Amino acid sequence: MLTNKGPQPKNHMHVKKGDKVVVLSGKDKGQQGEIIEAIPKKMKVVVAGVNKVKRHMKPNQKYPNGGIITRESPLNVSKVMLVCPSCKKPTRIAKKLVNGKFVRACKKCGEVIDNK
Ligand SMILES: [Zn+2]
Repeated sequence: MLTNKGPQPKNHMHVKKGDKVVVLSGKDKGQQGEIIEAIPKKMKVVVAGVNKVKRHMKPNQKYPNGGIITRESPLNVSKVMLVCPSCKKPTRIAKKLVNGKFVRACKKCGEVIDNK
């Protein structure tokens, strides 16, 4: 019996790991960084160097002395905008059909962002 519950392909994000983005709001507004983690389930991304928070760590394998570390915490994906690798401007995504497949392209310069 099929139900409507379960994973839906709704959590589609306009950005993904490795993309360069600019932060649109919050304390890190205007900062740019690369996405180091994408969390589609929560519609969040972790951007290198952005939204850093201090965490108190208990000693563990990675941090044998424990203490305070700073690490990036996830941002809502709606707070970031993709920076086009070609024209270096923050841009919206256009979809382009290339070889029968939709790829992401820059709305400003038209350059394809995927399949580099
Ligand atoms: Zn562009």
